[in-house]
Amino acid sequence: MDSTLSIIIPAYNEEDNIDPVYRDLSSVLIGLGIPYEILLIDDGSTDQTCQKMKSLQLRDNSIRIIKFRKNFGQSAALQAGFDYATGTIIVTMDSDLQNDPRDIPALIEKIEREDFDVVCGWRYNRQDPVFKKIFSKMANSLRKFLTKETIHDSGCTLRSYRRECIEDLELYGELHRYIPAMLQWKGYRVGEIKVNHRERTHGSSKYSWKRLTKGFLDLIVIAFWQKYSVRPMHIFGGFGFILATIGFFISLYLIFERLFLNMGLTERPLFLVGFFMLVVGIQFIALGILADILLKIYYGQKERKPYRVDKILK
Ligand code: UDP
Ligand code: MG
Repeated sequence: MDSTLSIIIPAYNEEDNIDPVYRDLSSVLIGLGIPYEILLIDDGSTDQTCQKMKSLQLRDNSIRIIKFRKNFGQSAALQAGFDYATGTIIVTMDSDLQNDPRDIPALIEKIEREDFDVVCGWRYNRQDPVFKKIFSKMANSLRKFLTKETIHDSGCTLRSYRRECIEDLELYGELHRYIPAMLQWKGYRVGEIKVNHRERTHGSSKYSWKRLTKGFLDLIVIAFWQKYSVRPMHIFGGFGFILATIGFFISLYLIFERLFLNMGLTERPLFLVGFFMLVVGIQFIALGILADILLKIYYGQKERKPYRVDKILK
């Protein structure tokens, strides 16, 4: 089948970047010789971003604009792009000129020649403030440790995807950082190539400490989901069972002492410890059962399956 290409570019208050990014990009796309569409997502910009997009669209009918009612964030903007993209290969990139469209041919080639499902850009020579680079290094190591995913740089938006994998994603919060982890976990082949990275020259970064904390909390959810999504009872139930068992034996011991050795219970801290362990343990087991019921509902909804089939051989 012949490939078609969709380029997804989220933009939030990037009025000075829209024109140059389009110019850079379209010269690369024309050279590629593959039919393409450009999806510009205006993520609730309050400056001239949308007007700039519209005037480009008047000249180029391969441009589609998805304008959000308000700022929903980069993950939501990417998801909207995925929902509306029609290409067989999808490329995502930033609109702030930090990514270089000249890397796109290599990203596509790696999918087509080497049979990868996703190819991520690795900003090996990253042009960002030092504190951001240090923080990003730490975040990347933590991510690798918790998700067992191995690519170097999961914060780079410049990536290429086969259509099947994006249909399998649900992005919200700051989840776009964990796309490679989520896809790898579902069995897709994730690769990476080194890409160019440039300093931001126009507009300002939407990076803030608030966004970092949210990203960290999302990582906990992802890591948990990845490990226990099909067996929540193993973690909740296992933990609860251990607690309840210890609590049970402590209580048994205390009851024995009370009944046969006539020892009081009131001023013994062990009584509280045993009692709480028993109660909290039972709570955890109940939580495990509830989580299990919730998952049954989740997978019961249409098209949600705990597996992905590659081929069916008859
Ligand atoms: N962006 C967006 N919505 C947001 C924040 C950012 O669409 O709420 C876009 C932004 O216009 C840029 C990309 O996401 O194209 C990356 O944002 P930014 O450059 O601020 O992040 P950084 O590179 O500093 O991590
Ligand atoms: Mg940027």
